[in-house]
Amino acid sequence: MRLLLIEDDTMIGEAVLDQLRAEDYAVDWVRDGEMALTALKTQTYDLVLLDLGLPRLDGLEVLRALRARKLRVPVLIATARDSVQQKVQGLDAGADDYILKPYDLDELLARIRALLRRAAGRAEPVYEYKGVSICPATREVSVAGEPVVLSAREWAVLEPLLARPGLLLSRPQLEEKLYGWKDDISSNAVEVYIHGVRKKLGADLIQNVRGLGYMVPRV
Ligand code: CA
Repeated sequence: MRLLLIEDDTMIGEAVLDQLRAEDYAVDWVRDGEMALTALKTQTYDLVLLDLGLPRLDGLEVLRALRARKLRVPVLIATARDSVQQKVQGLDAGADDYILKPYDLDELLARIRALLRRAAGRAEPVYEYKGVSICPATREVSVAGEPVVLSAREWAVLEPLLARPGLLLSRPQLEEKLYGWKDDISSNAVEVYIHGVRKKLGADLIQNVRGLGYMVPRV
């Protein structure tokens, strides 16, 4: 999953970036509103984490501009405590949820997971298919009741597929979910990690549509 972090505070930005990367999200970090709009023009994101107080262009303006462009990406706004009016304005401008600053990183991660789940049209937290059971929140996976452990990179390719069962993702789309701007990509990385997932969870779970991409079956 690829996230855009929009935050001008260096300390908060670095802490959130570390935490999100530790959870294997691909994250791009920008520090002002103009850069945010540029990033949103050039890249597709699964979720935007938006600070409201930003230099150059205010967070609310960023939000209004991206909704005016009909971008439907989930937006989680981060706002200062006791600012009810900001929260209301943010939600009315098209934000999907808000979190109060200073926020707890575990709560942030849970809200991100919930938004990604809802964006995928899934309220239920567990995916089950032919004896394979997967809970993205806890990363618990089992095959026929036996626990299985996936590597971080295997998760990174499986998660976006799981988020939209039945939807085909191309190899470049999966690569985007795997890496941030500054990472190097080896050309067969996606195939390598998908091969790993199939070995552990069975060949049926990730289906390859030759020349087009990959999908997990709708259940
Ligand atoms: Ca700020």
